[in-house]
Amino acid sequence: MKAAVVPALGAPLEIRDVPIPTPGPGQVLVRIETAGLCHTDIHAARGEWPVEPKIPLIPGHEGVGVVEQVGDGDLPVQVGDRVALPWLGFACGHCRGCVSGRETYCVTPQYMGYTIDGSYAEYAIGYASHVVRVPDEVSSLDAAPLTCAGVTTYKGLKVAYPQPSDTVMVVGIGGLGHLGLQYAKVFGSTTVAVDVEDEKLQLARDLGADHVVDARISSASDVVDGVDVALVTVPSPAAMQAAHAALAPGGRLVIVGLPADDRLELPVFDTVLSGKSVIGSLVGTRNDLADCFSLHARGLTKVVAQTRRLEDVNECFEEVLEGRVPARLVFDMT
Ligand code: NAD
Ligand code: ZN
Ligand code: ZN
Repeated sequence: MKAAVVPALGAPLEIRDVPIPTPGPGQVLVRIETAGLCHTDIHAARGEWPVEPKIPLIPGHEGVGVVEQVGDGDLPVQVGDRVALPWLGFACGHCRGCVSGRETYCVTPQYMGYTIDGSYAEYAIGYASHVVRVPDEVSSLDAAPLTCAGVTTYKGLKVAYPQPSDTVMVVGIGGLGHLGLQYAKVFGSTTVAVDVEDEKLQLARDLGADHVVDARISSASDVVDGVDVALVTVPSPAAMQAAHAALAPGGRLVIVGLPADDRLELPVFDTVLSGKSVIGSLVGTRNDLADCFSLHARGLTKVVAQTRRLEDVNECFEEVLEGRVPARLVFDMT
């Protein structure tokens, strides 16, 4: 099968012909139809994070496709089912994180396209227990970005309990943020969208943001008197500091962007005297992803994405880094 492989950290990806994997007990073989390109895949291929991925690596954790073969066991999915292969490839099911409804914080997880091979290929292996069925109403093209960008921002907002009377600021209107902005509207909150690229600022307006802030020339305080929730999708400690400063009393800063520079300095007095919270959030559960699919099936979200060929993966990484992408790129494998 054709696959895009990271041969060494920091090296360009190579399109290789590799054997189609065989599903072991509890696993399924999925024929990939679409595979979204998340900024995480770029961090992974470049080895930018404190924990390094497996090498060689097939990246990708926004895979969607059809189950073609199943391994041994009494499995919850069948041949022919259309499923998503999210970042949380596997969780043990019995650690404290798993049994408390926080499976993304499992102590022995497998991450698709990081600790195990992902969806930048014609086929990928998933664990039957952790793939998520895609409803018929959701196309494979739309389902791919929902599988990470969608569920991550939906869950990132959920953990901050946004209220209809709240103002929610989404920082970074890229792959993650363009969906985060729409979920903030689904929760009924007033929205502030922040970015530094003209196209992304226009996208935020098109998606109905109540306020749009160009962080190059202004800040949230120019348009609102404090925000209740700030969801920062940008991998930048400076953007996180600015979002913390913009919080109203009782405000919640949710960090989802994962910068190579793994340090964030915040003022203690402002945090304590204004009762501000800082919350980290990692993707979402299988149930959160099912919620994202059903919200989309109801017409409450719109995925902004363009398709690309897997052969162009290195150019695609450059496009994302240079901010030339409408919101998400998706490899069309059909
Ligand atoms: P992206 O490149 O599509 O989007 C980033 C956006 O931020 C772009 O629109 C860019 O113009 C904007 N931006 C850059 N600098 C800015 C600034 N200073 N202020 C405001 N906006 C700015 O990336 P993505 O795929 O949305 O991923 C974003 C980050 O989230 C990455 O670090 C990724 O690894 C991380 N991520 C985390 C999780 C999680 O579970 N926590 C899940 C997925 C992705
Ligand atoms: Zn992702
Ligand atoms: Zn676990």
